[in-house]
Amino acid sequence: MRIFLNYDPSAPARSRALSNNNGSIEMKCRMVLLSAALVLAACGGGGDGGSAEPVAPTPTTPTTPGGLPPPEPATPVAPAGTTAAEILALADATNLAGTSYPWNGRFAGMVKRWRLPIPVKTNGEARAVPAMDAIEAKLGFTVFDRTSLANADETTITRGLVFRQGTSYLPVGGNPRSFCANVSDAPLSGGWSASMVSPGELTGRIYVNLDNPQCVADAEIVIHEIGHAMGLATHFKGFGGEDDDGAIGPEFWPVLATLYANPIGTPKASVVVKQIKD
Ligand SMILES: [Zn+2]
Repeated sequence: MRIFLNYDPSAPARSRALSNNNGSIEMKCRMVLLSAALVLAACGGGGDGGSAEPVAPTPTTPTTPGGLPPPEPATPVAPAGTTAAEILALADATNLAGTSYPWNGRFAGMVKRWRLPIPVKTNGEARAVPAMDAIEAKLGFTVFDRTSLANADETTITRGLVFRQGTSYLPVGGNPRSFCANVSDAPLSGGWSASMVSPGELTGRIYVNLDNPQCVADAEIVIHEIGHAMGLATHFKGFGGEDDDGAIGPEFWPVLATLYANPIGTPKASVVVKQIKD
């Protein structure tokens, strides 16, 4: 069955302002209940924290070998305002615990992320390049394979991120500003099954859908969506969460870096926090 993104059905819709090239625009994530079994989430760069949608997981057949990747650099740096305990708690909520959508209990209590590098097909989407550059600059190592899928037929891609323009999921009646971009299993879809192979490796073909006819995703929203695709499932402070902090805030970087500073499948108790200066 199709699974839809679900961001915090228990919380009311909240709005926030984001600045982009067009000035301050209103961004908000709203949960829309389509039916008893069909819940989806908006992802316009801001939004609420997430929670699990109690639906059956639908992992796909592994198409790539699992196994632990080589450890990545984890050079400690001075705390950048968010304590290690806070970073670990945020990482736990959005990824490690695995109770939230789209983990749905799979590989609970451990690091779930891609084996690097992550193949990317940009489809000529220019905004993908500075976003990937920014992520690699912050993490300090190569994250993306930008070449192997460049000319691949999308239908043949079994592992990697595929950018599309104009395919953000916009449900009937949805605020276009609230549904400016999303991550899903298919263009124009709100569903993300989060294909994984043991011990918690993200895989599959994931679409990064940017824009709808009434909203253009800015640079921060693009980074935000890649963050989702890399394993940040639900929103948190610094990731479209609290305090009107926009699509990405100071907490985003160390949480993302922490996931990628630890081997896939690392149990929470063994996770080494990676501090990143904003
Ligand atoms: Zn989001």
